[in-house]
Amino acid sequence: MLFSFLIASVSAAPTNTTGIDRIDTNSVKIDPKYNDGRLIQRGGINRRFDDGDLTGKGGNLSGTDPRRLARLPDDLGPYLCVMLTFTSTQTIANPQYNPWFYGYPYYSYARGSWMYQWIHVPILHVSSKNENAIRNEFFGPTGYADWIDEASWGQQKLQSSDVDFITINMGNIDPIDFDLSILVQLVTAQQTYTNKINSRRFSSRPYTRTLIFQPDQPACMSTYPDYCNRAQGGILGRVGPDPTFSRYRGSVSQKWQTIAHELGHNDGLMHSGACSTSPMRERNGYWQYAASSIMGVERGKLYDINAPNRLKLGWMGPQSVVTYNAATGGVEDSAGASVLWKAYVSALNLGPAGTYRHLLLKIPCSTCTSAQDRSSTYHDGNVYVSFRGDDAAKSKYGVDDTIDWLNRLNTFERGTCTNTNLRLMTNRVHVHYQRTVQIPSELWTTLGQGESYEIAGPALVIHVCTVNDELGAVVTVGADSATAKALCP
Ligand SMILES: [Zn+2]
Repeated sequence: MLFSFLIASVSAAPTNTTGIDRIDTNSVKIDPKYNDGRLIQRGGINRRFDDGDLTGKGGNLSGTDPRRLARLPDDLGPYLCVMLTFTSTQTIANPQYNPWFYGYPYYSYARGSWMYQWIHVPILHVSSKNENAIRNEFFGPTGYADWIDEASWGQQKLQSSDVDFITINMGNIDPIDFDLSILVQLVTAQQTYTNKINSRRFSSRPYTRTLIFQPDQPACMSTYPDYCNRAQGGILGRVGPDPTFSRYRGSVSQKWQTIAHELGHNDGLMHSGACSTSPMRERNGYWQYAASSIMGVERGKLYDINAPNRLKLGWMGPQSVVTYNAATGGVEDSAGASVLWKAYVSALNLGPAGTYRHLLLKIPCSTCTSAQDRSSTYHDGNVYVSFRGDDAAKSKYGVDDTIDWLNRLNTFERGTCTNTNLRLMTNRVHVHYQRTVQIPSELWTTLGQGESYEIAGPALVIHVCTVNDELGAVVTVGADSATAKALCP
């Protein structure tokens, strides 16, 4: 018979330009339910650190750690972005290949059966956002660099020259089930990565962060639509993946808000939660992502970082904090000056303004229980009282009053999550709780002028005497509501 070939199999092999090592995907498959980082947090070991110990300029890294030394006083970065790609092969009928048959089935006398012709087409899978789009998430008019400049009151900046990109082609390895730990192993084993790191070996500023942008995967899109968008950051001070690495898959997870969230984990921050009616809430009606903060659900909003976390990051020094002393009833500033039972807290976005502006009233609470974990009291707990404006200091980022159904908040009162909706955020006094160890910060309530809040445990009531929109509030602390109210000027 004329046709001695029967099946034309044209396979363009994936080009492998990076010399990637083949790894056994079966040995590193990870159950998707472990992939969101929460298990790592639950199983992690708390490492105690004090307020302000995380400076964001190297945090609680040891004194000679290059990552600490790399951080200039006001300069973040440099950051390295790793774009991962991989190639899969799709097999399609090729009607054009054989000019005689045009893809119609033909009868092969050699095989004695009807045959098709096929062609194998390589498909390159790339990150949902490309390099330019990610650069825009960093440096667009509204984006990470602009956001961190505002949230840190200009103390931290990221220069566009301090974000570099490399692309690593993983050959035919689909990293669909790779969590951050596996991706770190994979990336750091690549010559492309090593060369890039080495190019800064003798620099005084090696990379402080590596962000891995994963390719989109058709299997992920069709099988687990929700699972496609995944981001994860190593948490400073916790057992788990390297806290200088983070990873992002899917267009939502590659937004600047998610990048800021994961880099917050890199700096040791945990989630900002609240009591919530969200169906995703956890035990006791608490949802670790609920609060209006970049460390909560950050998608689509212009949230910033709440007051207790700014203290942890070192953006707010001790001079910005006044502390309630239960023994004396005094509210003391960092210089030791004391005003009985009363504090003026300025709008958070106004910033420290040198040394005179108080942004936070800290009430040590050794008998408070947390909303997330009510099983015991924590002696290192603090209640943090701050004031949030709407556009204080012409801020672009911050809290707002447009909370969608998923993010609906409730108050935490008398040690229990209530059904009382907590909708108002702006021009109100915010009451948070956080321990000095790395656990989530909890938004317990917000208060308007004339409103009181009883802190369950220590028999203390916070009362808001006056609110000055966009400027601040006068707050008193007393044994009960009437006492606190009577202390108002
Ligand atoms: Zn997170």
